[in-house]
Amino acid sequence: MNILVINAGSSSLKYQLLDPATGVLLAKGLCERIGIDGKFTYKPQVEGKAALNAIDVAMPTHSEAIQAVLNALVDAENGVLASMSEIDAVGHRVVHGGESFASSVLITDEVMKAIEECNPLAPLHNPANLIGINACTAVLGDKVPQVAVFDTSFHQTMPNVAYTYAIPYEYYENDKIRRYGFHGTSHRFVSARAAAMLGKPIEELNIITCHLGNGSSIAAVKGGKCVDTTMGLTPLAGLPMGTRAGDMDAGVMEFIMNKYNLSMKEMMNVLNKKSGVLGISGISSDFRDLDAAEAAGNARAKLAKDVFAYDVKKYIGSYAAAMGGVDAIVFTAGVGENGPGLRVSMTAGLEYMGVAPLNAEANNKRGVEIDVSGEGSKVRVLVIPTNEELMIAMDTAEIVKAM
Ligand code: AMP
Repeated sequence: MNILVINAGSSSLKYQLLDPATGVLLAKGLCERIGIDGKFTYKPQVEGKAALNAIDVAMPTHSEAIQAVLNALVDAENGVLASMSEIDAVGHRVVHGGESFASSVLITDEVMKAIEECNPLAPLHNPANLIGINACTAVLGDKVPQVAVFDTSFHQTMPNVAYTYAIPYEYYENDKIRRYGFHGTSHRFVSARAAAMLGKPIEELNIITCHLGNGSSIAAVKGGKCVDTTMGLTPLAGLPMGTRAGDMDAGVMEFIMNKYNLSMKEMMNVLNKKSGVLGISGISSDFRDLDAAEAAGNARAKLAKDVFAYDVKKYIGSYAAAMGGVDAIVFTAGVGENGPGLRVSMTAGLEYMGVAPLNAEANNKRGVEIDVSGEGSKVRVLVIPTNEELMIAMDTAEIVKAM
């Protein structure tokens, strides 16, 4: 089966064409500056086919962007498909499914309406996802099935104690203000892979999955179901991230807004774009830059990394408490997969709960699923490259096969 996976943003669209049964990626790429001056990138993963790198393609709307993707995929010289009919289905990443979607679904008119109803919960993302779906329908017609895979749905199994905010309850009743969580596709993918690596049914395992990238979140996965996660109504909650503040005293906002005469919009811009490890270090949101600055003796770069690692460790401890123990801790995404030093600091001092110091040799390997636990560790520490697109393609194939 060939599944086209689409992640549509307001002015960009990422795509991958892959076979969910084998995991083989045929092509991937990116449409950028949609509605502006259209830049198109195409990276075929087949020997002898040439890539296109940020070439000019007129893309006044997402429909032209999807058309450009299809043209590239079936191009006589550098395409990877003989015709468009070889695309069996399209899987869309949709950011917010609210309380309406606890799993991936076949897209119908009713589903489109329900996604639209979640727009107030993710006003920047959901409308763009809907535009992406409509663009695919416009170009591919309604014969090609499309599936929505939500960032939030894996977390819908959280109990009310984990998702209820301690604010007047009517905000939940009237406006559905609660913790939802994000990165669900990644947490689901790596927790399933962790169970496979450990050779045990996921139903018997307590797993803490740490998705640490530019955006970061942690989930407590008990018996294969999410019971808690660090992100909230929006992705601003939980850990400090590349540029997001994560959890802090809400009173800080009032203080800063009053003192510096900031509007709410300006304050949110500070918390979303200027905070996190960028805010603390004053250098960069990228951990590679922080590593270099720390090595050159920069104390604030070190502090930013230390705050991040400390918070990760605090959540690991609290989720072990929430689940009554932990069998495996998984690190994934850019920092989780590529930061051996941070993995050491995030797990240091956890011997009391059965986490031995990491195996240095294993911890320094990259790009593979690997058990980095130290000798005698009761809790397994795993590094698992995430693959959200593959998970989306797998869900899409499963739903389409059952039609
Ligand atoms: P992601 O959002 O999952 O793509 O992760 C992006 C982040 O991963 C970047 O901002 C970097 O901070 C981090 N990252 C990627 N590669 C490395 C690396 N080799 N060493 C340390 N951090 C890395």
